[in-house]
Amino acid sequence: MTVERDVMEFDVVVVGGGPSGLSAAIRLKQLGNETGKDISVCLIEKGSEVGAHILSGAVLEPRSLNELFPDWESRGAPLDTPVTTDKFMFLTETASLRLPTPPSMNNHGNYIISLGNFCRWLGAQAEALGVEIYPGFPAAEILYDQSGAVKGIATGDMGIGKDGQPTESYMRGMELHAKQTIFAEGCRGHLTKTLFDKFSLREGKDPQTFAIGIKELWDIDPEKAKPGLAWHSVGWPLSTDTYGGSFLYHLNGNQVAVGYVVGLDYSNPHLSPFEEFQRFKNHPAVRDTFVGGRRVSYGARALNEGGFQSIPKLTFPGGCLVGCTAGFLNVPKIKGTHTAMKSGMLAAEAIFESFEQMPAGSEPTSYSDKLQNSWLWTELYKVRNIRPGFAKGLWLGLAHAAIDTYLLFGRAPWTLHHHADHTCLKPADQAPKITYPKPDGEVSFDRNSSVYLSGTNHEENQPAHLTLKDKDVPITHNLAVFDAPEQRYCPAGVYEIIHDENGNNPQLQINAQNCVHCKTCDIKDPSQNINWVTPEGGGGPNYPNM
Ligand SMILES: Cc1cc2nc3c(=O)[nH]c(=O)nc-3n(C[C@H](O)[C@H](O)[C@H](O)COP(=O)(O)OP(=O)(O)OC[C@H]3O[C@@H](n4cnc5c(N)ncnc54)[C@H](O)[C@@H]3O)c2cc1C
Ligand code: SF4
Repeated sequence: MTVERDVMEFDVVVVGGGPSGLSAAIRLKQLGNETGKDISVCLIEKGSEVGAHILSGAVLEPRSLNELFPDWESRGAPLDTPVTTDKFMFLTETASLRLPTPPSMNNHGNYIISLGNFCRWLGAQAEALGVEIYPGFPAAEILYDQSGAVKGIATGDMGIGKDGQPTESYMRGMELHAKQTIFAEGCRGHLTKTLFDKFSLREGKDPQTFAIGIKELWDIDPEKAKPGLAWHSVGWPLSTDTYGGSFLYHLNGNQVAVGYVVGLDYSNPHLSPFEEFQRFKNHPAVRDTFVGGRRVSYGARALNEGGFQSIPKLTFPGGCLVGCTAGFLNVPKIKGTHTAMKSGMLAAEAIFESFEQMPAGSEPTSYSDKLQNSWLWTELYKVRNIRPGFAKGLWLGLAHAAIDTYLLFGRAPWTLHHHADHTCLKPADQAPKITYPKPDGEVSFDRNSSVYLSGTNHEENQPAHLTLKDKDVPITHNLAVFDAPEQRYCPAGVYEIIHDENGNNPQLQINAQNCVHCKTCDIKDPSQNINWVTPEGGGGPNYPNM
């Protein structure tokens, strides 16, 4: 581990192969090709391939794609299912009521897609333009020059055992140096978290808030297929003081993407987002879609909900933040792909324009100016009060959203604020217990069989990537006060409280190999004691069409 790392030099390094990182890389190369300037761009992705760690709904608003590749259709972009019908429902335990579709949920002109496959396609476009893509390599460390500017990243070492010692397959990581580094890690980027601290990027901003989204992909009975239907619900099974809802998107090929999103500001530590999702699928208005079908994939991922008031400072010496790692998701639309792409494109334009004048390690400040003058900024500003309006529950939230949308048109002279999600849990003895039904094995399932469908795999002999700042806190604080909520909010069953044969001496067992990289534990742990770091490259889920 004292071996020097090999160094590769690029003009720009992009960390993360999601829609934001790929759009940034593509735009840089497009601009280079248009002006005859050769600009070297490298993109690294921790998943085994581009798309392997991508999980989304997804309904794509094609606005940014139209700007990036106006000829996307002839390039074969996988946008096969235009949305034909929107339904917005309110559910009680036994009934369903169709509500008027809010304007933000009108998907006319949008497409139901697999975001993973869309990223695979973007990756192929990027490579054709000359972007060097290295999948299976996590950026594990940020490199700084002597002045404190970011000068690139280092990929993680491979072949280190649980004991921290090199194994036979040990391979030192690489250093990728760049004049500019673009961080596109997606929601709750783990290197981005360190940049927030190093450059005080969150100073004066609201805390970021989050939700967890859990999703399954189903092959359904062809008789029940309604390609183009985008169906959303609020209400049951969540209580009205918890923010969340479902989506059900019918794709071509008799497939349905079904998912459940729960705001991570929930207060009841007994709540399990996974079990709420399983229960939801048994609602009388939902269950029949899946009877006779086959579940083909499962996964989970956190998403940002802070919106406009939670956007951090975006630039620092040597680089910038794009996409969901900064937090550009439009919550009322439940869409962050078009905004992620746009931010990546604007970052690329800012970096490209000033590239020749700027020495390595400069701060690309014109990116923030470009953003503030773009449709993205206006779009997020208009809806900034909708999500915090739900802090007092579903009914007040819906009423406030209607007033803000139809009467004030998003121009209210005030801005509502957010609380950090990890501060929101009540002590377990002050919150009602929740009894969840057993899975029926037909429509609802347990966690283990679910994780199996995510294709998750991690080398077992490696240091823990779910690190605890204090190893006693899970028992002395989390178990004692909150009844160990990590057992329930983790959608992959990674955290278990185990006891000795007499039922005493509780311990936290971390089944790290099951981790689907959703980042929920890093966000929701009440004392912020869990720090998610990148495991060995290529580990994690292998989502096929999510
Ligand atoms: C359940 C759910 C439903 C959603 N539905 C929709 C929808 O219908 N429509 C919509 O527009 N948006 C939707 N979104 C949001 C949308 O998916 C995101 O806004 C979008 O994916 C953000 O793109 P990104 O490039 O910023 O990040 P991501 O898509 O998260 O991509 C980040 C990439 O970076 C990689 N990475 C992270 N850290 C590192 C590292 N250190 N080193 C190397 N690689 C790294 C990750 O593996 C990943 O591939 C949904 C999200 C969820 C979770
Ligand atoms: S361990 Fe954390 S990041 Fe991994 S699946 Fe569980 S909650 Fe998500």
